[in-house]
Amino acid sequence: MKIVKTIDEIRNIIKEWRKEGYSVGLVPTMGYLHEGHGSLIEQSVKNNDKTVVSVFVNPTQFGPNEDLEKYPRDIERDSKLVERIGGDIIFNPEASEMYSSAGFTTIKVEGLSEKLCGITRPTHFAGVCQVVSKLFNIVTPDNAYFGLKDFQQYVIIKTMVDDLNFPVKINPVEIVREESGLAMSSRNVYLTYDERKSALSLSIALKTAKSLISNREYNSSKIISEMKQIINNYPYTKIDYIKIVNTTTLNDIDYIENEKYAVLLAVYVGKTRLIDNYVCE
Ligand code: AMP
Repeated sequence: MKIVKTIDEIRNIIKEWRKEGYSVGLVPTMGYLHEGHGSLIEQSVKNNDKTVVSVFVNPTQFGPNEDLEKYPRDIERDSKLVERIGGDIIFNPEASEMYSSAGFTTIKVEGLSEKLCGITRPTHFAGVCQVVSKLFNIVTPDNAYFGLKDFQQYVIIKTMVDDLNFPVKINPVEIVREESGLAMSSRNVYLTYDERKSALSLSIALKTAKSLISNREYNSSKIISEMKQIINNYPYTKIDYIKIVNTTTLNDIDYIENEKYAVLLAVYVGKTRLIDNYVCE
């Protein structure tokens, strides 16, 4: 397992791999890897001859008052995880390497980027699409792996790839949770002991939604109102949004009938903004 810092070097390695006829999988991450990332890497290692894991805290997807500077980083620990799972390369460029040109170009997936997380994070998805397109052009993967934990991100990337004919297959990977039900996230490290207990309210509320729906409660506002009550009962929580949406358009669904739907939520626990969801497709 090798750590590569420059675009030229990774391109040369990929060129050699292509001469051998190897298929390539890419797992884009911001590092501080956990078993959620591990599951994406596992899928890639299983289905491709070679796997590149990018570890890059992308400045363009952070807003002015977000946690860019304090976002957790530990490349040594990340290397151990990638090595253990069988990844071949960590691509870990500096921001100056990734953004050495003028940087005029952004990609806007209209209609999908402005809603849900895009309301509190208006520039976030333009930054995500920018860095992911750059990674696709640098690594030229056959397959790329995205976690369903960031469901809106997955839908946006999938749409961008379809719209712009990127020659890569986007593979979704199920959410990996701690035993407690808390969805794994690099940002969980910010939570205090008591906040961690409150963070369980997200998965508890989603479980309740699932069971209400299986008991034929199809009215979204009723389901959302029960979820709100659960989360508001825990200290330190502040709901950003809870929505039930169509899985392709991300438009609100008022009444769940035959549509494919996702129950999505974003909640501040203390100062940490957590997201989670339950998707029914
Ligand atoms: P991040 O490093 O947070 O940008 O995440 C990199 C990739 O890992 C994204 O595609 C995430 O959706 C995915 N990911 C993060 N946490 C989880 C999790 N708990 N389960 C599955 N995938 C995850």
